[in-house]
Amino acid sequence: MRRPVIAGNWKMNILPSELEAYFSAYASTVSEQCADFVDKVVAPPTSHLFIAQSIASKLGVIISSQNVHWEDSGAFTGEVSSKMLLDLGIQYAIIGHSERRQFFGETNRTVGGRVANAMKANLIPIICIGETEEERESGLTEKILVGQLESFLNECEGQGDFIIAYEPVWAIGTGKSATAETAQETHELIRSKLSETLGRNVADRTRILYGGSVKPSNLKEYLEQNDIDGGLVGGASLKGDTFAQMVNIAGEGLLN
Ligand code: PEP
Repeated sequence: MRRPVIAGNWKMNILPSELEAYFSAYASTVSEQCADFVDKVVAPPTSHLFIAQSIASKLGVIISSQNVHWEDSGAFTGEVSSKMLLDLGIQYAIIGHSERRQFFGETNRTVGGRVANAMKANLIPIICIGETEEERESGLTEKILVGQLESFLNECEGQGDFIIAYEPVWAIGTGKSATAETAQETHELIRSKLSETLGRNVADRTRILYGGSVKPSNLKEYLEQNDIDGGLVGGASLKGDTFAQMVNIAGEGLLN
């Protein structure tokens, strides 16, 4: 049984001065009983990490970075390293989000480097993969996903935990979510590639999240699928109470 993860990606949203209100809305909505069964992760912008960590740690919410560099230090303006994150007590980092790939020149090669550095440092990466609409329509989904997986899976061999987020690009921020069946089929493909490359044990224990217009009203149907272990959520994670509702939904299924 894999422990579900509900991860909120805030992107470039929410002010540092709004953090207290966010987490107090979260705390007043979350059910402690449900939350016990779930890994709750929130990824604010880098500028908020220190203060967010001090508030969220009291609520059992894990703070994640939205990125991490492939070097430990150096002349890389605007970047953050795994050593810096760990020094702050941050143990998770999103890597390879499609917005990084689309707007900031992220490639499979740079994703591989970031994953390698994170894994060596014992940071848990949430590694994003996903096809565009044109790629899906041209029947290229499997080829694209396998290429993305091959760019980093070797870096995970013999290392600690990592999380994969399958996020079809056409479903991110568009309101057009993949059906639960389509998501399940793709997650199954990802898990079988994991098994082929890193062995059955790693494939069985690795959490694979679905991302793409997930919200409280559709989360349950994704979580009911065998190979979907949680959600990476953008828009619907921007309110503390809505994020808490999704944590409650993920935990409710495990209460009995
Ligand atoms: C995301 O940012 O990773 C995401 C899935 O966004 P949204 O939930 O808004 O589609």
